[in-house]
Amino acid sequence: MVNIIMLGPPGAGKGTQAKMLVERLGIPQISTGDMLRAAVKDGTELGKKAKEYMDAGKLVPDEVVIGIVKERLAQADCERGFILDGFPRTIPQAEALDRVLEELGKRIDYVINVAVPNEELITRLTGRRTCRKCGAMYHVVFNPPREEGRCDKCGGELYQRDDDREETIRQRLEVYQAQTAPLIDYYKKKGVLYDIDGTGSIEDIFQNILKVLGA
Ligand SMILES: [Zn+2]
Repeated sequence: MVNIIMLGPPGAGKGTQAKMLVERLGIPQISTGDMLRAAVKDGTELGKKAKEYMDAGKLVPDEVVIGIVKERLAQADCERGFILDGFPRTIPQAEALDRVLEELGKRIDYVINVAVPNEELITRLTGRRTCRKCGAMYHVVFNPPREEGRCDKCGGELYQRDDDREETIRQRLEVYQAQTAPLIDYYKKKGVLYDIDGTGSIEDIFQNILKVLGA
């Protein structure tokens, strides 16, 4: 059994690595967004509560999220392990997760911290371009279209979404630094934190994670 938390700033590629780990280890990836959507769809008590907040355009409060996490981690497919991706995001959430895990007789074995310097993250995230017509995604450095500003697939105009503008990206990185980066120390103290250099190729990063896991 191996229980993993993936940590890392937006753009570090931890979601990609989590998906590769799912394939390799055969354990589920648990992301807050997916969990909330599933709970709402299944109409569970907590799902109904979460829906009220989401319909009102509000953040779902921690006690509802943590309840949904607990229900999810208690399901049979988590018996062999799980990969938490995007949760916890704050120290209070991490503390609540510890309480839930204790109640379930589980613990976190590895916290994989995918580290990428801020300037590299900004290059990655601000270079994204999206096709206005078909939604295809490109990157000015890593995946450029054949003709600048034009979609390869449909010839549509490529544009930068507001989410991908430098100012927005810098704000997201600041929120990460303030709220989520303290989790690095939190898990270091527990002796379960492993730093992974997130600047190499996707495959190299994956191999380094497997080494840490002894898999
Ligand atoms: Zn297109």
